[in-house]
Order: sequence, then structure tokens, then C-alpha cells
Amino acid sequence: MPKEIIILGGSYAGLSTAHYLLKHILPSLPTSDCQIVLVSPSEEVFCRPACPRALISDDMFPQDKLFVSIPASFSQYPEDRFRFVQGTAVSLDHVKRTVDITIHPSNPNLNPEMLVVTYEALVIATGASTPSPLLGFTPNNTHTDPATVLRQNWSSFRTQLHTYTAKSIIIAGGGPAGVEVAGELGEHLNGPPSWVSWLRPAQRSPKVPITLLTAGDRILPALRPTIAKTAEGYLARVGVSVVKNARVVSVTQVQGGNTTDKDGTAEGGQSVAVVLEDGRVLSGDIYIPCTGTRPNTAFIRDELLTGDGRVDTNPQTLRVEKGGVVRVYAIGDASNYARPAVHNILSAVPVLCANMKLDLLKVSGGAEQEADGRVFKEDISETQLVPIGRSKGVGAAMGYRLPSWLIWAIKGRDYWLWTTGGLWSGKKWDRP
Ligand SMILES: Cc1cc2nc3c(=O)[nH]c(=O)nc-3n(C[C@H](O)[C@H](O)[C@H](O)COP(=O)(O)OP(=O)(O)OC[C@H]3O[C@@H](n4cnc5c(N)ncnc54)[C@H](O)[C@@H]3O)c2cc1C
Repeated sequence: MPKEIIILGGSYAGLSTAHYLLKHILPSLPTSDCQIVLVSPSEEVFCRPACPRALISDDMFPQDKLFVSIPASFSQYPEDRFRFVQGTAVSLDHVKRTVDITIHPSNPNLNPEMLVVTYEALVIATGASTPSPLLGFTPNNTHTDPATVLRQNWSSFRTQLHTYTAKSIIIAGGGPAGVEVAGELGEHLNGPPSWVSWLRPAQRSPKVPITLLTAGDRILPALRPTIAKTAEGYLARVGVSVVKNARVVSVTQVQGGNTTDKDGTAEGGQSVAVVLEDGRVLSGDIYIPCTGTRPNTAFIRDELLTGDGRVDTNPQTLRVEKGGVVRVYAIGDASNYARPAVHNILSAVPVLCANMKLDLLKVSGGAEQEADGRVFKEDISETQLVPIGRSKGVGAAMGYRLPSWLIWAIKGRDYWLWTTGGLWSGKKWDRP
């Protein structure tokens, strides 16, 4: 029986960790009896940052680059070294060192099988979900592949947008996701911004008015106020108006006089009423919540989690150390080690893997018990790139403000799709 290194979650954190372990760590261990088992509910991995544009139409991106098969990305490794399990972790027993996994049946009408695996080492990379089902893989109880569910959600959103001809849209959340969704929809529905800003600084009567609500007194709080101000100007040029100090307390869907709770899923021809903390009520044909994320950690006991549900992780070593846990690591949006961002994941992968190697060597007597391993240091500089529509954008990298054309060149032209090929195939990790 191989010793299993289980990785939960098949996205930026999980796939990169798996490739790195397979390329650099497993070959350097004295024994060859370890196998990587990658567990994820979807057979596909996808470029999540592209959602704000991808949700509008399949023509926005080549679909075979947007969604990529996980088993095909790992076919380069020997079978005794890597195994993919399409399933969902439902319970972690960190004392017995086991994970219960629901295996997704090929036919969703069949009952799922349950698999209990004992791990030699465990990586928690189950990420986080958004309140809007349009912005990522959302855990579901139907055992339908989350990639299929996401495509279905996009499809019903497009029906709402085009077939029922939405006349107004409300988006909640002044962070990058809210701003990007507003900018993409604004340009798609109201046309591109005028090239000469003084000629048409703001659209006075856009075809589809879009309201972006933010609970704070400005948008894009991770960037300096002058950059946020520029973003507001670009948004106005595609028909988006920003409403500040506007915290949403409830959203209801108006249905022939009755109302029902609404989570932002678009449904045919309905309109929504959005109630703000100060009592104002806004109505629109579509509501998209882009506020915060919920970590996918329901399968983990509370004693290993922080107050906001993330895995309590040593931010320097990526080890989970609470409750006497050994050889358990957490990375990506499910963990509290750093701000949720892809660049933080990519710089943490080599650290996590080096520390796992050290811990595995310690068990076999191949390393000093007191050796410490590598240390992760989060990049806390002002770094965030925010495209606004298909030609503009704002942002900064390593504390330096970047011009709009550079935001377009790095991110706005294809929302990072130019980088994901190398990530999913593992080429990015050819060199340690
Ligand atoms: C709209 C949007 C735009 C963004 N833009 C950017 C950007 O431009 N730059 C940037 O750096 N970051 C951006 N981010 C953040 C970035 O997408 C995340 O930091 C990144 O996706 C986190 O990767 P992850 O692997 O930790 O988790 P996720 O991408 O959340 O993936 C988690 C994976 O785990 C699986 N999973 C969930 N539960 C279980 C379970 N119980 N068992 C097994 N598997 C499970 C999921 O199906 C999924 O495959 C954006 C996020 C959003 C929502």
C-alpha cells in the first residue's frame, strides 16, 4: 500500500502543490512509496478571475483554455505516483488521520460511494465560495460537477440579461470582484467608454443603468484613494454609478406581489428589491452579490478554524499546528496565512512543499528533529490589478501605481488566461 499524501481541492493551490510535490519532493525522498491523491468535486480546473467577463458569453474566452481537464493535466506522471479522485471531503478526523470523501457517481441519480482514506500528509486547499453562484465553483449536494453547475448558472444569467432584457442591474460589493463585474457588464450593455474622457466623462442616461453598492465610504479599499477615484470615473463612463455607505441587509425577489429570499441567482423576468441598512429600498432586474467569500471548510472541526471559518495556519510554515495536528498543511483561500490572492498562493507552494518534505524525512529518521524548514513571508505591498471593461483599468503592483494600458496588457485583455496554461500543466513548476 502506498503512503498517501492527500490534497483536497483542485484549483490554484491544490494543483500547484500537487505538481510541485510530484516534480521536486517525491523524487528526492529516500523511498518511493508515496502517492499524491488529489480530491476535487470537479474534473476541471478553471481560471476563476475571468468570471466577471466569462459570465457574459462563451465567446469572451476560448472555452478549452478557460476550463481544463485535471486528469489530462496529470497524465504525464506515473500512475503509482498520482491519483485523481472526483469527490468531496465531508469529514476530517485529524486525530485518527483520516478523511471521509464522497465519491461523485458518474450518474447523479445514483447514490454516492463513501471512501475513508488514511493520510501520511494532508494539504487543505479547498478555497472559498462566493455568495453569487456566478463567480466560481459552489459546493452543491447534488453531486453534479460544479463546472457544469457554473455553466448552467451563467446560462440562466444570460437568459435574464438578454431574453428578458434586463433594464437595470444592482451589484453589491466595492472590492475588485464587484468593480470588475460592474465594468464588464457596463461596457457590454452600454458600450465602451469614449476615448476622450472630457468629451463624455460619464454616461448620463445609459441604456442599462448599473448601480454598484459599497458598504464603505469608497470602492477598492486595498488601493490608495486616488486610484479608487480614477476607477469611479472609468465606471461612470460605462454607465455604472457608485453608491457609498450602502450596506445591503436583505434582498427579495418580487414574484407577483409576494417576495422570496434571493441569493443573486437570476430567474426569468423577475425583479429584486434590495433593502439597505439606512432603510432605502432599491429595485432592479438583476442583483449580483460580490461581497466577501465563505471558506469551504465545513468538513473540518471548529478547533482547527479561526472565527471566520478559515483554517488556522502557521503563516510562516503553512503547517496546521492546533490540537496536536501533524503533517497537515493549508494553503489558498481556505487558509488564514495571507490575503486571498493567486500571487500569495504561488509564493507559498515551494515553502509548504519544502516543509512537508522535512516533516516526512523526520518521520523516517532522515532529518534532524529540530530542523525548522522554510519560511513564507507575505507580500503586503499595495498590489491589485482591476480591469474596468475591455480597455481600461486601475491598479498598483509592489506599491507602484500602474497606468490603465498596463493593467489592460497584464490582466484586462484576457484575465490572466495567458498564465493558466503553464499553471495547470505544471510547466510553471519545472524549476523549483
Ligand atoms: C471574481 C473573482 C476574481 C478574482 N480575481 C483575482 C485576480 O485577479 N488575482 C488574484 O490573485 N486573485 C483573484 N481572485 C482570487 C482567486 O481566484 C483565489 O485567490 C484563488 O482562486 C484561490 O485558489 P484556491 O485554490 O485556494 O481555491 P479556489 O479557487 O476557491 O478552489 C477551491 C477548490 O476546492 C474544491 N473544493 C471545495 N470544497 C471541497 C471539498 N470539501 N473537498 C474537495 N475539494 C473541495 C473546489 O471545487 C475548487 O476546485 C479572484 C476571485 C474571484 C471570485
